[in-house]
Amino acid sequence: MSAERRPLTVLYRGPLSSCNFDCPYCPFAKRRESRAERGTDRDALARFLRWAGEGEFQPLSVFFTPWGEAMVRSWYRDAVVELSRMPHVRRVAVQTNLSGPMTWIDECVPERVGIWATWHPAEMPLERFSARVGRLRERGISVSAGIVGTVAHREAADRLRAALPDIYVWVNAVKRDPEAMALGWEEVDPLFGWNAQAWPSLGRVCRTGNEVVTVDGVGDVRRCHFVPDVIGNLYDRSLATALSPRPCPNATCGCHIGYVHLKELALERVFGDGILERVRAPLHQTDSSFSQH
Ligand code: SF4
Ligand code: SF4
Repeated sequence: MSAERRPLTVLYRGPLSSCNFDCPYCPFAKRRESRAERGTDRDALARFLRWAGEGEFQPLSVFFTPWGEAMVRSWYRDAVVELSRMPHVRRVAVQTNLSGPMTWIDECVPERVGIWATWHPAEMPLERFSARVGRLRERGISVSAGIVGTVAHREAADRLRAALPDIYVWVNAVKRDPEAMALGWEEVDPLFGWNAQAWPSLGRVCRTGNEVVTVDGVGDVRRCHFVPDVIGNLYDRSLATALSPRPCPNATCGCHIGYVHLKELALERVFGDGILERVRAPLHQTDSSFSQH
C-alpha cells in the first residue's frame, strides 16, 4: 500500500441516480432503479469505504454529491456513520433532501458530519424540514439549509429564513431564469451574489485535481464534477502520482461545489470548516475584511 499521508477531499458520486421526490426542476424526480442497479450502487460504495478505511490519504474528507437522493438508502446512512468513526476522517458531508430515516444521527461521530439540506417546498412541509434540521443541530452536526431560487419558491424562502433564525440559509441561483434572478434573494441569503454568477475560471488556480477530487462508482477520478477528463483511479493506486496543481480548463465555474475551490476567491474565509456542506463560519472566525461580491 502506498505510504502517502497527504490530505485529500473526495466528492463521491456513485451510480445512484434516483429520488423519492418529484421536483419539477430535476431530471431525477421520481426516477426509480432496478434491484440490480441498486446492488451495483451498494457494491460500489462498499468498495469505496474499504479504500477510505485503508488511510492512503490523511486526513480524508468525503462529500457525497449524488445524482438524486442517497440518504433514503441504508448503505449511504451506514457509510456516513462508518466514515465519521474512522480516526483519519476529518469530515463526511452529504447533500440530502432530509426525507430519509434519521436514526443514523445517534450512531455517528457528530462533530465530523456535515449536512447540506435542501428544502423542496412542494414535497415536504416546512415544519417537518425545520424540525429535522433542529434534530441535527441538537446532535451537534454541522448543517446548512437552503432552497432552489425559482419564482415559485420566493415566498417559501422567506418562511424558511424565518423558521431557522440561527443558521445560514442559502439560495441556489437559477441563472437561466432572469425573472427568478430578479426577486431580491439577498434578503434571504446575504451571500447570494456569490452563487448568482459564473466565475471566470479559465487558467485560474483551483485546488481540484490536487487537494480535492471527484470519484465515481468504479473509482475513476476526475478533478471536479465539471471537467470530464479522468486523471487516475482509486483502486489501481494511480491517484497519488496523478495529483498535481493544475489550472482550470473551463471558461467559468458557477456551482458552489466547484468555485469554493478556486483559490483566488478564498472562500475558506467565509465557510471555514463548513465549506463542503455550505455552512457559514461564525463571523468571529472569518476574515473581517471579507465583503460580499
Ligand atoms: S429532492 Fe433533489 S434529487 Fe430529488 S427530485 Fe428534488 S431536486 Fe431532484
Ligand atoms: S474552477 Fe470549477 S470547473 Fe474549474 S477546475 Fe475548479 S471546480 Fe472545476
